[in-house]
Amino acid sequence: MKEKEKALLSRIPAVHLLAEELSRRHPGYPEVFYTRAARKTADLLRGEILKGRRDHLDRGEVLALAGEVLLREASPHLRPVVNATGVVVHTNLGRAPLCREALEEIFSVARGYSNLEYRLAEGRRGSRYEHVAGLLRELTGAEEALVVNNNAAAVLITLNTLARGREVIVSRGELVEIGGSFRMPAVMAWAGCVLREVGTTNRTHLRDYEEAINENTALLMKVHKSNYAIVGFTREVSGAELVALGRRYGIPVVEDLGSGCLVDFSRYGLRREPTVQEIVRTGVDVVTFSGDKLLGAPQAGIIVGRRELVERIRQNPLNRALRIDKLTLAGLEATLRLYLDERLAVERIPVLRMILKPAEEVRREARRLKRLLDRVGLPGFSFKVVPTVCRTGGGALPVADLPSWAVAVEARDLSAEELHEHLRTGSPPVVGRVEEGRFLLEVRTVFPEEFPLVVEAFRRFAQGA
Ligand SMILES: *Cc1c(COP(=O)(O)O)cnc(C)c1O
Repeated sequence: MKEKEKALLSRIPAVHLLAEELSRRHPGYPEVFYTRAARKTADLLRGEILKGRRDHLDRGEVLALAGEVLLREASPHLRPVVNATGVVVHTNLGRAPLCREALEEIFSVARGYSNLEYRLAEGRRGSRYEHVAGLLRELTGAEEALVVNNNAAAVLITLNTLARGREVIVSRGELVEIGGSFRMPAVMAWAGCVLREVGTTNRTHLRDYEEAINENTALLMKVHKSNYAIVGFTREVSGAELVALGRRYGIPVVEDLGSGCLVDFSRYGLRREPTVQEIVRTGVDVVTFSGDKLLGAPQAGIIVGRRELVERIRQNPLNRALRIDKLTLAGLEATLRLYLDERLAVERIPVLRMILKPAEEVRREARRLKRLLDRVGLPGFSFKVVPTVCRTGGGALPVADLPSWAVAVEARDLSAEELHEHLRTGSPPVVGRVEEGRFLLEVRTVFPEEFPLVVEAFRRFAQGA
């Protein structure tokens, strides 16, 4: 080893001394973080010196690096990110951001005790489902409602309650997979039901269902094609047709709506999707949908339908394992209350606001973000406002595109992927989109309050340069 390297290595402080110094400078963290950060810093520096990447080392540099390492180590693993992907309901990025009303309710219920399962007027035990069942009945027109952990749980418990050991008829065109682990045939198996596929991938007729009915048929089921579309020579049996068939044979009809939405998007110029209340009106006996997709609430599975069936589902012992927690209930109730007045819902629920924001407004915001970025004066960077197409994500409007605007970023010395990596690993992380070799910041899904954070992320480039 060269003399110079030896000299540099000898300037790395001992781990326990560096840890002590860190705890003096950044008080308030658990002890273990100081030791860990000190060890990591020492390892980092040793590596750099041995690779010949350092020709000097002073105390100030060591402490600055150790401070950065400490903050990274000590910050929570699950943390906020800026969603510049343009996908409004992005499962990997936590789906629906919550409205202020939901956040406030969650905070007030979580910080102390609540009447979760207690009827205050009567001074006796109540049920956690009472807090939202009335709202859901009013909003959907269904006789009864139940909420569970998520929609996968809603489908599982519905099938398990109403069709265990018996057959469920589903069209081959609707055997969906939603992300890796939720595949309709597998859910059927776990629910203890026998899947009876009918029709073909592109065409299923009413007579296909009718011919499959036998004494062991428990349910007719319809599943929303959340993330795909079958186009061309197609035939699909509507919920209303299935209901008529089910009534003739005395077999209940269940519909898994996936996303489920209480607002008619076509009133705002988007593609028409039947709302939950319309599906309920067709006479479908049980409808299931998610809380955290288009509804814009916390993660939950919502089951609405005929009183007698929903009551049986509630009494299934599985319900205890799949039950919804009080924080979710608080957030769900607050969000659902906004839907009592649709104007309030579309104004205050972030998912709805983002989806319904007119392209022109997104363009204005994109221009504002570009101006803020230009002002940083990053050498070698250029920012341009470009038209794009966004998706809602999370199903329900699977093939509906939202015309939108983004800020395209080009950097002289970085590829679009490299740029994206820098931003993703920054603080706060900014997740964008690379398309045709360009890095895009989709503005539709970025909250205006987050613009300064995005600008700050770019400013760090300037400092690093
Ligand atoms: C998303 C989806 C589910 C699963 O819902 P989670 O809330 O993610 O559990 C089930 N069925 C359909 C059709 C879906 O789109």
